[in-house]
Amino acid sequence: MEIAGTYLPYEIFAPTGAHGAPRVFIAPQRYIQGKDVLAQMGRYLALVRARRAAILISPGGEKRHGGPLTDSLRSAKIDSIVCRFNGECSREEVEQHARALKSQRVDCVVAVGGGKCVDAGKAVAFRLNVPVVIAPTLASNDAPCSALSVLYSPAGVSEGVEFYPCSPALVVVDTGVIAAASERYLVSGMGDAMATWYEASVCLHNGAAITTVGARPTLASIAIGEVCAKTLFKHGAAAAEAVASSTVNDALEAVVEANTLLSALGFESGGLAAAHGFAQSFTAIPEANANHLHGEMVALGTLAQLVMEQRLDEARRVGRFFAEVGLPVHVGQLSIDAHDGVALKTIVDHALAFPFIGNMPMQIDADVVSHGLLGAHEIGLALTQQVGEASYRRLHAD
Ligand SMILES: [Zn+2]
Repeated sequence: MEIAGTYLPYEIFAPTGAHGAPRVFIAPQRYIQGKDVLAQMGRYLALVRARRAAILISPGGEKRHGGPLTDSLRSAKIDSIVCRFNGECSREEVEQHARALKSQRVDCVVAVGGGKCVDAGKAVAFRLNVPVVIAPTLASNDAPCSALSVLYSPAGVSEGVEFYPCSPALVVVDTGVIAAASERYLVSGMGDAMATWYEASVCLHNGAAITTVGARPTLASIAIGEVCAKTLFKHGAAAAEAVASSTVNDALEAVVEANTLLSALGFESGGLAAAHGFAQSFTAIPEANANHLHGEMVALGTLAQLVMEQRLDEARRVGRFFAEVGLPVHVGQLSIDAHDGVALKTIVDHALAFPFIGNMPMQIDADVVSHGLLGAHEIGLALTQQVGEASYRRLHAD
């Protein structure tokens, strides 16, 4: 994961002299979540004193959400310029929007969509030097609240991460919109969110570990990660059922907050470890990358991390939850053949190259990583014997 762009947090937070890295907490300025809040966007934009907003949204998103959003801006007397998001958070697409908006004198960028659209919105706003407002339409990942974007080539291959000095000024999460999306997205977000506590805990207890901005983890983010995991265990299955029937209830509200807010605060100020290393490495297998979402890959990565930590009972507990909600628990469920030695070696090599794999407390080598992956696979196979694969099959039916 190469670090691109003009803001390099490591330079800001690097340890000086005898002092180690400082603790750094990163968070959006305001987080607003509830049913139908998207239609209140005009009121919320008063928080950034918006008069003229650029709205980054896909053509499909505009059809679904454009009406209430622009009505709301109009009644708040805010001009809006709609920019069509074409589906990839690539430098090309970001630069094209930034160029087109340069002469428009917009005072904020409002990104409405999935992970790639919100990441593109942050990148465009950074180039225009205006605040970014995020309205996620899925709860499938923790991108909305973080101060970084994952960039891709126009063909969709990951090209590294760009960091920003400011977090989103506002994150507005309409749970009515999330409930109308596919259950698989919410469940995938649970996979991404569940990793947070385990990765942050590893970083806290390893004095040499650093977060994605090169800082030490904060106690706040560990506590947030713990609440995040407990919320998922308690409400995850009910929240998935709510989305399956397009219903907003308390379980869904709790899990959307876990997937979107708690997960981001926990990882950004708590740190990443092997779970995300495995998730990144699964993307190197074309079949896995084409057919599976980020959080689904993080789920299996979390089991593999727990095996590396020799926390086998915890791996079984988390794995059972994953199997019950339909997240992958063995490599076959990520479209990877467990007997394909070349694929397994590719995964291990990529995991070893992940910049935060060294946050793990043990000496890292190919054997340790491969033992973690295969151990998780075995645990997952045994769990699917007990729990069955009905939830997984239902989510992957299309
Ligand atoms: Zn993630």
